[in-house]
Amino acid sequence: MDDLDLLIDLHREAARQGPGGDEETRLSIALSGLRGAQGLRIADIGCGTGASTLVLARELDATVTAVDFVLAFLDRLAEAAQRAGLDDRIETLAASMDALPFEDRSLDAIWSEGAIYNMGFEAGVRAWRRFLEPGGILAVSDLTWLTGDRPAELERHWTREYPGVATASTKMAILEANGYSPIGYFPLPERCWLANYYRPMQERFAGFLSRNGHSRAARAVVEAEQAEIALYERFSAFYGYGYYVARRTPG
Ligand code: SAM
Repeated sequence: MDDLDLLIDLHREAARQGPGGDEETRLSIALSGLRGAQGLRIADIGCGTGASTLVLARELDATVTAVDFVLAFLDRLAEAAQRAGLDDRIETLAASMDALPFEDRSLDAIWSEGAIYNMGFEAGVRAWRRFLEPGGILAVSDLTWLTGDRPAELERHWTREYPGVATASTKMAILEANGYSPIGYFPLPERCWLANYYRPMQERFAGFLSRNGHSRAARAVVEAEQAEIALYERFSAFYGYGYYVARRTPG
């Protein structure tokens, strides 16, 4: 198995592939003002196995197109949608987020939890704007500095790993500079990282290693995840995921 296959193997049985929470998805929906609207067309980009997709389909009168480039995740989502009786509202689409096949102005909203970093925050919000109707909603979560200052060691780490990391005020300014009007921001609570994402992942490590014969590559995947968890446990006061909700400006 190559490294991507190993990551898929570690994450495909999980309810979510990044920090997040159903309650926080519902909060973003509340900020969007879309409750009560009918026949919405929504894309959930980098949906993974679809934790947010399922909430969107349940809470809104919408057809949700769940987009990811990993087929194994989309298959799991399709099964979950069927089990939840939401399969008439959810369609899966295997595509890359930097080459989406949507028509211009064809969507009422775009959601994307913990995935826009793959393009970079600014590149993503810029590229996706044209798919939204004027007045359409963009709701994304992305790595965010929670304080004006932080330890140099941490700053070096995340600037190297994800140059798009920035404070909420910087990300709001990026939204404004790229044709969006910010509606709201909130940081994900620690529970979204620890209880919802890292602890369940740690419980899967033993099965993952045994399925993969404790290979050197599998052990390296676990070690990298453990290092990420230790970093978060040490520095969670300084970084987290910010959830941003904004409206596409006219024009
Ligand atoms: N939104 C899900 C969640 O919060 O549980 C998944 C978040 S996970 C950190 C990032 C997701 O983005 C993965 O499912 C991955 O397969 C997907 N992804 C990464 N690069 C992508 C790309 N270029 N196009 C589409 N999906 C991509």
